[in-house]
Amino acid sequence: MKKTILLLFLSLFLLVVLPNQGNAAASTSKIFLDGEELILPSDVQVTIVNKNVMIPIRVVAENLKFKVDWNQNARNVKIQQNDKTISLTVDQKQAMVADKQVTLNTAPLILNNTMVVPIRFVSEQMGLNVKWNNKEKIVYLINTDTSKEPTIEPGNGSPTSLTHVTDIQFANNQLVVSMDGESKPVMTTLKNPDRLVVDLPGAVFGDLSQPLNQNMNGKLDVDAYPNVTEVRYSLFKQDPGQVRIVVELNHVKDVQYSQNIIADKLIIDLNVSGDNVTPVPVTPVGDSGRKVVVIDPGHGGRDPGSTSITNKPEKEYNLALALKVQALLLNEPDIELVMTRDGDTYPTRPERVQLANQLNADVFVSIHGNNVESSPQATGTETFYYQRSSSKELANIIHQRLVKAMGLKDRGVKNGNLEVIRDTTMPAVLLEVGFLSNVMDEELMSSDVVQMKAAQAIADGIKEYLGIN
Ligand SMILES: [Zn+2]
Repeated sequence: MKKTILLLFLSLFLLVVLPNQGNAAASTSKIFLDGEELILPSDVQVTIVNKNVMIPIRVVAENLKFKVDWNQNARNVKIQQNDKTISLTVDQKQAMVADKQVTLNTAPLILNNTMVVPIRFVSEQMGLNVKWNNKEKIVYLINTDTSKEPTIEPGNGSPTSLTHVTDIQFANNQLVVSMDGESKPVMTTLKNPDRLVVDLPGAVFGDLSQPLNQNMNGKLDVDAYPNVTEVRYSLFKQDPGQVRIVVELNHVKDVQYSQNIIADKLIIDLNVSGDNVTPVPVTPVGDSGRKVVVIDPGHGGRDPGSTSITNKPEKEYNLALALKVQALLLNEPDIELVMTRDGDTYPTRPERVQLANQLNADVFVSIHGNNVESSPQATGTETFYYQRSSSKELANIIHQRLVKAMGLKDRGVKNGNLEVIRDTTMPAVLLEVGFLSNVMDEELMSSDVVQMKAAQAIADGIKEYLGIN
């Protein structure tokens, strides 16, 4: 055993230092599976042995969600692909696929504790399309076998109506995915490294708030979470669409989670505690030190709110301003920002409350426009809180800035028994920015420039209250 490893090491060493001897080891290499770059364990590489591109089989099989069993004594790996078992043994060219024996052109090897197999085997026996870019050292794998993949169930709605993912946040160890329609999430937990894979069949990216690169994938900044290595998202499949989000964890005993759908958002909570046998944390530590801010654009969808003097629904003003606040706070490193809606949808008021409470938000800000049709001269900005002194303090801070930004009459900070600020458990305010029934107020409220100023005032007020900057 030791000798083999030494030999392997030596031969690898020779491969590295003698790249022109017909064999070469790629120095840095990447594997893309259906457009998503696979995260290779450290030291694991795509390697070339006897002109065969060799890839780490475990990472690939696990990402395809095949069950992988490694038998250390037999130095054998068994991969359960749908209903067929593939059996590969180190240093043996003979492999079993279902009950058929097949011969590999190069035997599987162990490199840095990981079995590598020829790419051709993966292509021929596992039904993947394979491409090797020798210049860039990139392996492209495309999954052609979709028979066992979760897809939109036929007959269950129109397959052409795709759901769009518009926002992905990780707040208080909860993954929050905003969608404009339905997708039945498929959750899988994987080991080495521990991760939770969330697949959203029938979903593609809409106007995503988070960055997407040209390969249609990206990552969230989760540096503040000690047990979360990475949260990455990708368009796993184009047709039919499938968005995949992977939460990679470390130092957890088991990946555990609970899932919930509130206000069209899929919320996956990793705060759940496992059996407390071991003294080490079994789940990620909740406190990232980041503040969770929930912005609530009033009304939406089938609830237009009031109608402005120019005949426009209030919901549009509320959303336009709220999206500007979102843009200002989205890249704030100390804030996780979640919108109750970021499109023309209607989360009910209890859902808005439930969302903020579920996320254990630090601040809740609801944005509205006032309206008194019977007295079109009514004008000004007013801010509501409900009873809690923390809410009152937040109201005072934002109100002062908002009045200045709007340049309208100061109607004051008021106690108001309004559901969204009453039933939320954190500091919560409801802003009545101006009167949509007033010609002058309405003109300011529809101006992009004034909206920017108001958004800045709200964002600055939130930051001041939270003690950021
Ligand atoms: Zn309203």
